[in-house]
Amino acid sequence: MARANEYFARLSSGYLFPEIARRINEWQLRNPGKKVMRLGIGNTTEPITPHIAKAMKDKIDRLSCRDTYTGYGDEQGDTALREALRRHYQEEYGVSLPLDAFFVSDGAKSDAANIQSIFSNSSIIATQDPAYPVYVDSNVAGGHTGSYNKAYDGYEGIVYMRADESNGFVSCPPEEHADLIYLCFPNNPTGAVATKEQLSAFIDYAHKHKSIIIFDAAYSDYIETEGIPHSIYEIDGAMDCAIEINSFSKNAGFTGVRLGWTIVPEKLVCEDENTSLLHQYWNRRQTTFFNGASNIAQAGGIAALDSEGRKECASLVSYYKQNARIIRKGLEETGLTCYGGIDSPYVWTKCPSGMSSWEFFSHLLEKAHVATTPGSGFGPAGEGFVRISAYGHREDIEMAVKSIKENI
Ligand SMILES: *Cc1c(COP(=O)(O)O)cnc(C)c1O
Repeated sequence: MARANEYFARLSSGYLFPEIARRINEWQLRNPGKKVMRLGIGNTTEPITPHIAKAMKDKIDRLSCRDTYTGYGDEQGDTALREALRRHYQEEYGVSLPLDAFFVSDGAKSDAANIQSIFSNSSIIATQDPAYPVYVDSNVAGGHTGSYNKAYDGYEGIVYMRADESNGFVSCPPEEHADLIYLCFPNNPTGAVATKEQLSAFIDYAHKHKSIIIFDAAYSDYIETEGIPHSIYEIDGAMDCAIEINSFSKNAGFTGVRLGWTIVPEKLVCEDENTSLLHQYWNRRQTTFFNGASNIAQAGGIAALDSEGRKECASLVSYYKQNARIIRKGLEETGLTCYGGIDSPYVWTKCPSGMSSWEFFSHLLEKAHVATTPGSGFGPAGEGFVRISAYGHREDIEMAVKSIKENI
């Protein structure tokens, strides 16, 4: 008898985005002809920029020609792209990494979900609370946690590192032991960034506990605050205890194109001084279960990293950040308390008058016809907040902010 993976049944039901869609549909049925303004899902809206688009078109032309056609490429990624990434870390962040450390993928989400497979099933997982759901859910489905505990709205066996107003939404390293620590800065959903000192505390913890940090830097290009690290490897000692995941989704608009990368240094230490094992295993994982990212996407990635591409990405990011500023300013003018939205496309907004996340979500939908994302969907510490996303056309963002200002 075939049996389904019993750990999938442990995933808590009512995944956030389907539930939001259900509530919007229900509202739409009650309000025919009215338009909902969406500041919810973190999906990019602006077109791929010309230089990057041209590189992908040229690649398609080469693929359409017998003499320049290519099939499968290296599973680890095109050497030219890995070289461009290596140079990017060197030139922009002063971080020296060998070419071998870079693994190109079809996006940061799949890497964030797959990385747990190279670690022991007995690993204890720590995650920020609130957090991007894939870190926890991939470990639940991989059988690395206990069951869902409704009472505290979390899984048994996971160490939740609370991020709230008291710590400026930057979690502290946990008191207890954890083997794998997932960190995301600039943070989705709170928009918070971590200083060198705050990240150093995690590196110290990792050394003390022989843990590995999995650092999701998907929004690193949104950082404008002076002195905030863009890469975990800017912190001394990170090379032997941190894996970094990143993506072209949020800076080059590749959410639909699909391209990301993961850095697994050979110097990573696991199992008492056994270096290079994790690097070998990730290499093995990628070469065995993955056939490489799209060569068209990779041509776009190479262009995104040259000087013209960098300029285009910077202007795209700056467009979304201007949206974020408009949102934050508008909401603050109505008296709402807001965090984030400076080094991030997300404005983390406190629900007024003690409303819960879902109550404020409904309030904004009913009164202002604006859809947001309830903070509680990102973990128990997200309760009492909603995430407002700056991904949208400028005129739609302005209309939504105006509607919130006039109607709540
Ligand atoms: C959007 C996002 C990503 C990007 O995922 P892709 O699969 O590369 O599109 C990764 N991490 C976080 C926290 C995100 O919000």
